[in-house]
Amino acid sequence: MGVTDCHVHINPVWEMLPRARAILGTRGPGVEVEAYDRSPQRFLAYLDRCGVERAVLINYVAPEIVGYTEKANDFAIEYARTEPERLIPVGSVLPTHAQPGREVERLAGAGLRGIKLHPPHQLFRPNDYLGASGGLGAIYEAAQRLKLPVVFHTGTSIFPGARNRFGEPLLIEDVAIDYPDLLIVLAHGGRPLWMQQARFLVRRFPNVFLEISSIPPPRLLEYFPDLERLAPQVLFGSDWPGPGVEDIGQNLAAFRALPIAAEAKERILNVNPESVFPRS
Ligand SMILES: [Zn+2]
Repeated sequence: MGVTDCHVHINPVWEMLPRARAILGTRGPGVEVEAYDRSPQRFLAYLDRCGVERAVLINYVAPEIVGYTEKANDFAIEYARTEPERLIPVGSVLPTHAQPGREVERLAGAGLRGIKLHPPHQLFRPNDYLGASGGLGAIYEAAQRLKLPVVFHTGTSIFPGARNRFGEPLLIEDVAIDYPDLLIVLAHGGRPLWMQQARFLVRRFPNVFLEISSIPPPRLLEYFPDLERLAPQVLFGSDWPGPGVEDIGQNLAAFRALPIAAEAKERILNVNPESVFPRS
């Protein structure tokens, strides 16, 4: 049982809007990633060098803010076919889809292993199903039934046009109450504005996981001083090649250097990801 990076952006970057792609910078991993996006073999060799066995490929549909369309789902599924034991494709269905529940089913049948929702980029609140929009409810219902985890972006985003109020973790409390068997992952732990809210949800709901990607590991204990206690519901992730995440291997080494119990690290790196993204 090796390490799983629960949040990696292997995406069809050639689909990005120029203003969104500019966030990835003009050199470094944000540019170098395109070679990996085009070659699963190269990416697997990179994971080997980093000491990571499995990677969750976080893809999502956000035509207005990022430029990604439903093609991102096909990309993730196809890419992961190269090595399904190690590459875990996650994709997205928008609540405005004509048949969102059916689409979740179809994608799961095609090999998708989780749903990513990015409210600040997809421009809805996670609990909008309580109002007029039924689409989100159909997505949660299908994901719950098919045992697909739903990974929510929580916290802020600096992409042009992102509406950060929708990234508040507490909006997900309704989802945890109304879909009690749904596996919920709070990507980025609400950073940097709402860590307390993320922590509260993890403490309250056994099916809610805290995923630590894009938080610099050396600052993790500042953000979550009781990380060790939360460890049974924490997942390791890097968010590479997102802003500030240079290298998965460096990120992993910095996490391993934290002054918490070895058993907690083992849960976060190796054990918990196996229950949220089980092997087939
Ligand atoms: Zn991300």
